[in-house]
Amino acid sequence: VLDRTAFYPRGGGQEPDHGKIGDAEVTDVVKFGDVVIHSVVGKVPRSGATVDCQVEGTRRRKITQIHTATHILNGSSRQVLGPWVWQHSAFKEEDYGRLDITHFAHLTQQEVEKIEDLANEVVRKNLPVNTSFMPRQEAEERYGFRIYQGGIVPTKSIRIVNIGNWDIEACGGTHAKRTGDVGLVKITKAERVQDGVERLEFVAGESAIEYVHRMDSALNRVSATLETQRENIAKVAESLKSELEAVRAREKALGQRMVELSTAEVLSSAKEVKGVKLYVGSQSPLGEELIIAQGQKCTESDPSLVYVNVFVIGNSARVVCFVGAKARESGLSAGEIARQVAGQLGGSGGGSAAFAQGGGPSLDRIEDAVQSVEGTVASLVRG
Ligand SMILES: [Zn+2]
Repeated sequence: VLDRTAFYPRGGGQEPDHGKIGDAEVTDVVKFGDVVIHSVVGKVPRSGATVDCQVEGTRRRKITQIHTATHILNGSSRQVLGPWVWQHSAFKEEDYGRLDITHFAHLTQQEVEKIEDLANEVVRKNLPVNTSFMPRQEAEERYGFRIYQGGIVPTKSIRIVNIGNWDIEACGGTHAKRTGDVGLVKITKAERVQDGVERLEFVAGESAIEYVHRMDSALNRVSATLETQRENIAKVAESLKSELEAVRAREKALGQRMVELSTAEVLSSAKEVKGVKLYVGSQSPLGEELIIAQGQKCTESDPSLVYVNVFVIGNSARVVCFVGAKARESGLSAGEIARQVAGQLGGSGGGSAAFAQGGGPSLDRIEDAVQSVEGTVASLVRG
């Protein structure tokens, strides 16, 4: 706590100044009644000491640009949408502004662009921003209750901020001297946040330029990836998406056909083990989904089949097991087989008697696990 301060405390939706008090870093400034409390990191000055305050200029300047833009946008929203538009709430940070306004309908792209165009027109006119204290009653008589957009001010004398007669409000925040100082207003998002309240998110001044740079470099990256001019990105992305959907559909159809064709081969290569037929596959080119389809199809067409497949996904070994209805009569359970095979792979597995899966991290044990399946099945068959 200082006897007086240059730091703007959090208030009116505006975030506080940062900076230094002596050697300590100011990270937050809040006001309780008439007392301003500075939160600092580092060496706290001793009580009674005289200190140098240094407000971080860039942050203050950027917040001021955003704050001033909030007033301008509030005015242009009213111009574009109608006089009923009222500021619901607002928030101003260094690189982000938010203005919630009351409006009955969701804003269209055209309305958002109009609000933005009008705001930038006000910026280009370089209108003066006048701040003056005046008695509450006089202010209300002269400007009406629209000065309380940012909330009711309880004091007798109120601080009126007049932005070139475009927007007049009672406000205690920090403002640019002229609208031209705001530089550029860019709305980045418009969305409905609750019934009757529309949210405009925006950047202004230096943060708007930074935003444009970010978007520019993102567009350049996409354009390079798609190997097309920026102007064609949307068209190329749309056609790529429909191409991808077609390829996926074809892949699915081909996969199903492959599974059907492979059934005969799986069944003919199955080995007789104590009265059941056993198929053990590994290094299958089919993905997990098709392996499962293959196992299901094969055990359906031959119920005495036990189907086991060990394969790799990413960094782990997987096992899929199906036991046909007839093979289950000899006491075999897919869950138990998957559990034992996955155990070999250093992991765990389980499932029902008909279908189970599992896996483990030991890729180097795949060959051993495959070799062990026959013994496992033989030991589980009821004599
Ligand atoms: Zn203000």
